[in-house]
Formats: sequence, C-alpha cells, structure tokens
Amino acid sequence: MNYKQQLEVVQGLFVPPDTQIRMDCPFCHNKNTLSVDTTSNNIGWYCFHTSCSAKGKHQGEKDMTYVNSTFKKKEENLNTEFYVPDNFKILDSSDKARQYIHKNNCWEAWAWGRADIKYDVKQNRVVFMIRHEQKAHEFVGAVGRALSSVTYPKWYMYGNKDVPFKCGLHEHNEAVIVEDCASACAVSNILTGVAILGTSLKQSHKQSLKSYDKLYIALDRDATTKAFDIANELRSEGFKNVEIKALKDDLKYFNTEEIKEMFYG
Ligand SMILES: [Zn+2]
Repeated sequence: MNYKQQLEVVQGLFVPPDTQIRMDCPFCHNKNTLSVDTTSNNIGWYCFHTSCSAKGKHQGEKDMTYVNSTFKKKEENLNTEFYVPDNFKILDSSDKARQYIHKNNCWEAWAWGRADIKYDVKQNRVVFMIRHEQKAHEFVGAVGRALSSVTYPKWYMYGNKDVPFKCGLHEHNEAVIVEDCASACAVSNILTGVAILGTSLKQSHKQSLKSYDKLYIALDRDATTKAFDIANELRSEGFKNVEIKALKDDLKYFNTEEIKEMFYG
C-alpha cells in the first residue's frame, strides 16, 4: 500500500485528536502492533511488527483553535439525521452478513427489532445502524463490519462518530460498555449493550450513559488497563455504580444463557 492509501486507512480509524494509542494493525493484522499518534495536530503511524512496513506521518493544515472549534461543533450536532445510502440493503441480501450475525449472537437482537442491521453492498459490510436517542425512527450514523479480510478498516463508521451504538435501549436499567456492536447486540436480552467502538470513552458517550442505575465495563483482556481507566473516569464524574467485568472472550461469543450466568449467575 502506498502512503496515500495508508493515510486513508489510518484516518478511517478515527483516532481522536491529541491521542497516542496502540492498536491492532489493519495492514498486517497483528495484535496491538500499530502505534498512532495524533498529538500536535499531526497524524503519525508506525507498525512495530517486523513483517510490516506501515508507517507515515501527515501534518494537519489547521491549528489547534480550528480543531477545537470543529470538534465543538460536532458535539452540538450530535443528533443530526443520517440519510441511509442506497447501497445499504436489507440484511437478507447477503448470506455472509446473515452468517455473521448468527455466529456473533446478534440474531435475536435483529429478529426482535432491537437492532437495525443492514448490508452495505458497496463496501461488503454488515452494518449496524445507530438510532437517534430521542427519535427512534431516525438514524444518526452506522457502523460497518468488514465481511472480507481484505477490506480495510475492519470497522468503518458512517455519519456521526460521537454517538455510541446501543442495543436494548429502553428495556433495561443496567448497561454494559463493550468494544463492538456485535457484543452490544449479544448482551441485549439481559442488559443494554453500549459499544464505544474502540477502547476510549468520549464526552458524548458519557452523556448517554447517565440514565442507567448500573454500568458494567466489559472490554476484552487486552484492554484491562483501559477498562480501569474508564471506570475511574466515570466514577470521578459522578457515576456511582460502576463495575469492571473480566472476560474470557468478547461477549459476542456467548449466548444469552451464558451472559445471564456471567452477570447475574
Ligand atoms: Zn502492521
């Protein structure tokens, strides 16, 4: 991949400004080998894996004042409507998409209408629609999971990037913070699943967590430190009932009975 293609992929990871983060490399698929740095209005990336040549740096054109004001504007527009593109088809139009939601325990959430799941025929992704928090018939964005190993990035965000994907929005008083949409669907028979799409919590995410009596944090084992950071951050901002749930694996690999046992067994 040339520099321009790499830059596009890295920009597609939506690392927020002023962040230094390690993550799975979208180029060589190795775990936690890619470092991304968005401090000082730059975007720099470097993969530590010996087999991988991913690296580069891109200087932002705008100064921090510009970045801050754009960022603020985005927060205000949190709930702007997202127009569903024509290339989003019904889930049934792809066998692979159907298989994905079966294998990852999203089927029930979809069948019961708790999650709107579509298929992006253009990008070959199974797409989890993000609903407007007040107007349930409107969407503010979507998150697409690649169905082929050659599609980058693995997760792609359409429309608004500040609203978390939630599943089981109004049924439960307790919620669990997870990394990805499939896990949020898998838990939704038992608790509200909130996918933060990464391992850091945005200010806008916290806003939408306020209505729950209890919050669990269930990030995968690689992100345990991050889970503690999030728990501390939430507690310091007044969330009283926060509990970290140590997991053997992502919640999307467990069925409802197993999840029930895990949380309330
Ligand atoms: Zn790599």
